[in-house]
Amino acid sequence: MIRENILRILQEIPPYVSVVAAAKTRTPQEITEAIEAGITLIGENYVQETEGVRALVKAKASWHMIGHLQTNKAKKAVQIFDMIQTVDSLRLAEALDRACKSLGKIMPILIEINSGREAQKAGVLPEEAHTLIHGISALSSLKVMGVMTMGPLSGNPEESRPYFRTTRALFEELRCAGIPNTEMRYLSMGMSDSYKAAVEEGANMIRLGTCIFGPRG
Ligand SMILES: *Cc1c(COP(=O)(O)O)cnc(C)c1O
Repeated sequence: MIRENILRILQEIPPYVSVVAAAKTRTPQEITEAIEAGITLIGENYVQETEGVRALVKAKASWHMIGHLQTNKAKKAVQIFDMIQTVDSLRLAEALDRACKSLGKIMPILIEINSGREAQKAGVLPEEAHTLIHGISALSSLKVMGVMTMGPLSGNPEESRPYFRTTRALFEELRCAGIPNTEMRYLSMGMSDSYKAAVEEGANMIRLGTCIFGPRG
């Protein structure tokens, strides 16, 4: 089913939209099957889980961190990921920058936006994004490549639309701001139940788990 799901999804989205297969809890076999069906980006939520799984997936893909990252895991994270989508503080960015320097690596990152302004949620508030990105632009081993948002989970894509809109507007604003060492290329938003609305609202990167792999056990 993984192959059929992927072929159907890739056919129905516009060609400029990148699909990240959100692979938490999935086996190396399932992830390999997804890559063989045309997926090039794998999203993971946990550093430790990824370390184990990535060693067993021989098929070539880029691995993106899409879960909340603790500063004390920065070192390990830059070793195993090709992009970090969830940077939401200068402290975390500085830890990632230091870790990248010691590896001689430049890490592309996205800024996670707390578009629903939820107190317990990760992400920077929309009005704080400018200041954060300006701070990060001075860190020479990181490269800001766009923004990511989750938005409040409701199960109803129409309820997600306002948060997608807010994030899209911010993305455009940041693009026009011309911040040094920053390229506003990726707008990562939309999950299995909401990706169609997200694409309509301007997403060019979507993160899909359930609709690729089936329900999580
Ligand atoms: C799990 C996850 C997804 C995908 O969720 P589905 O509803 O299974 O498509 C997307 N983004 C993040 C950050 C996730 O943790």
